[in-house]
Amino acid sequence: MADIIQLLPDHVANQIAAGEVVQRPASVVKELLENAIDANASHIKLIIKEAGKTLIQVIDDGVGMSPTDARLSFERHATSKIRSAEDLFKINTKGFRGEALASIAAIAHVEIKTKQESEELGTSILIEGSEVKEQEVVVTPTGTSVAVKNLFFNIPARRNFLKSNTVELRHVVDEFHRVALAHPDISFAFYQNGSELFNLPSSNYRKRIVHIFGKKTNEKLVPVEESTEVLKINGFVGKPEYSKKTRSEQFFFVNNRYIKSPYLNHAVNAAFEGLLKSGHHPSYFLNLEIDPQSIDINIHPTKTEIKFDDEHTLYAILRAAIKHSLGQFNIAPVLDFEHESSLNTPYSYKDKAAKTPVIDVDRTFNPFEKETPVQKSGGMRKSFTKAPTADWESLYVGLESKGNKTQASYNEVSFESDTKSPEIFESQSDMDVTKTTYQLHHKYLVTTIKSGLVIIDQSRAHQRILYESFLENMTVNEAVSQQLLFPITLNFTPSEIEMLKKVKDSLEQTGFLFASIKKEQLIISGLPINVQESEVVIVLEQLLSDLDADVPDASFSAVDLMAQSMAKSLAIKTGQRLDEQEQNHLVNSLFACKEPTVTPTNKRIFITFQVDDIDKKFM
Ligand code: ADP
Ligand code: MG
Repeated sequence: MADIIQLLPDHVANQIAAGEVVQRPASVVKELLENAIDANASHIKLIIKEAGKTLIQVIDDGVGMSPTDARLSFERHATSKIRSAEDLFKINTKGFRGEALASIAAIAHVEIKTKQESEELGTSILIEGSEVKEQEVVVTPTGTSVAVKNLFFNIPARRNFLKSNTVELRHVVDEFHRVALAHPDISFAFYQNGSELFNLPSSNYRKRIVHIFGKKTNEKLVPVEESTEVLKINGFVGKPEYSKKTRSEQFFFVNNRYIKSPYLNHAVNAAFEGLLKSGHHPSYFLNLEIDPQSIDINIHPTKTEIKFDDEHTLYAILRAAIKHSLGQFNIAPVLDFEHESSLNTPYSYKDKAAKTPVIDVDRTFNPFEKETPVQKSGGMRKSFTKAPTADWESLYVGLESKGNKTQASYNEVSFESDTKSPEIFESQSDMDVTKTTYQLHHKYLVTTIKSGLVIIDQSRAHQRILYESFLENMTVNEAVSQQLLFPITLNFTPSEIEMLKKVKDSLEQTGFLFASIKKEQLIISGLPINVQESEVVIVLEQLLSDLDADVPDASFSAVDLMAQSMAKSLAIKTGQRLDEQEQNHLVNSLFACKEPTVTPTNKRIFITFQVDDIDKKFM
């Protein structure tokens, strides 16, 4: 039989290799930026169009290439960075595989212009799908410009797999952040569709972080410094009180290369033990310097994971160094994890004059009276905020919306038990729950129905109630806003502002009014009637963290996500004491919902026990 094995033609091999190196526009951005850094550039410009789908261009003022090198750079395994296998163990450059340009040229239209300092004229090469179309001598500045157009033009399946521009741009920005943070001494500019997204002058590490993440970052950074035989650490961690719900500000760099390391991340978390609220993650920007001989970065083509020879020692040193810094800068543990969120002064309020708190004391309170009038103190956190409304009402704030029939009928629900959910309550008399509701462990509401017992998760129940009313407000009703006497100014990072801009319309549908949205600042002039001033920060931060986890493409899911997110941040929490009226109101409102059984994220809200089942337990 004839031999059947053949060597793959180069362009096919390159396309296969490209699959590993280039997943999306952001991968190209990473490779091109790294090449510019390896070429010793001091100014790097990144220009993209359509989130990189139509154009990615990187212009540097580095050493450039000779005409022959320029041509060779597109061959596979063509690299100037290593010469022998031994070199693999002392790598100081970003690249070394010689795969990137060959891979990119296999799946895009690439135009490269490059000139070395000693030369008068430079070289321009045009390549389409691995084929050199043109090479000529050109006038061009010293350095290199690589323009990558129409990514995946010859692999429609890959092109169709790309996400929306919003999502792809986010990946590009993430990649840009990583490279820019690793090289504060290099100046970077970044343009998308003709407008400038970042302009980062050459500076020190701290200033680079602040330029990227916004001015408010400055005051939260605590320096970390350690120097041992095996490891040098320098960088910053965020103070615990600025910890975030997202992991968007967690960066490790090993020898100026961004890496992911769950193990070292654990070491940082261990240093923060006892200092963070649950569900929060510390910010960190840490550079580790390790002898290249003792690491192996050659395990993944995109090179974000590395192997260390002596992980345990690194772990211990890192943890101790951060602990030491936190101690030295006198960062005391946050002891009260369950503190009332309304008591936290949001950061942006600190310049305002403090108001004398109004404490609602019910002087007519009589513990022996059964049904006291509603005005009373304690219990709900809202009691600190608005005097005129009885505080239990504000618990169901999601339900009060002027001039709407259905909303109004929700409002009347309160004590009279005049609504019912047919699935669970069999007859009118079954609804007679007012006298038999108990709160268990400040967490569950226990109440009876004719056929047995219902146990309700209070926080989940409230989420459902708020969610349905927000959704209704956003989709059916006209938004009702409360105008603020003093607009609230909030600081965010530029990318957070970008994200908020995307959902601005939906936010306005809920009742938010924005006086201005600047690069790092948001001025809010009006709020949805059911959001208190003190809750704005919490609501928006939660929203950002939810958006970060799940960028909605369609506007419908944006509205839904927003309703979910706001319901989550405003719902009463586990651990909150509810009095009898509040309990009853919650139960009644829940069963007036369209879908009382599960939360917006599909978690069970209550369980029932039939008397029969209970009987069986006593047999
Ligand atoms: P690697 O970076 O792994 O060596 P690449 O395919 O990314 O492989 O690049 C191949 C070679 O092309 C590099 O080794 C370098 O010599 C040259 N090169 C690529 N980009 C640049 C640039 N911006 N400036 C100067 N030389 C470059
Ligand atoms: Mg490279």
